[in-house]
Amino acid sequence: MLSEELLAILACPACKSKVKLVADRWLVCQNPECRRKYPIKDGIPQMLIEEGDKYVDVSEEELAKLEP
Ligand SMILES: [Zn+2]
Repeated sequence: MLSEELLAILACPACKSKVKLVADRWLVCQNPECRRKYPIKDGIPQMLIEEGDKYVDVSEEELAKLEP
């Protein structure tokens, strides 16, 4: 689980928008034109554009069922 403090300073590396925690293991960019999602693996957010690119078309509901 990420701390509120860490979440507050994390930003999408592609567009620098804020991210939202989903299902305790995904960080979802809040920019509707970006929609990249970043997995949290072993407690470490994978804030890489190429990681986020993989999940652009995956809905938040689907993310909750996926294992990063
Ligand atoms: Zn973004």
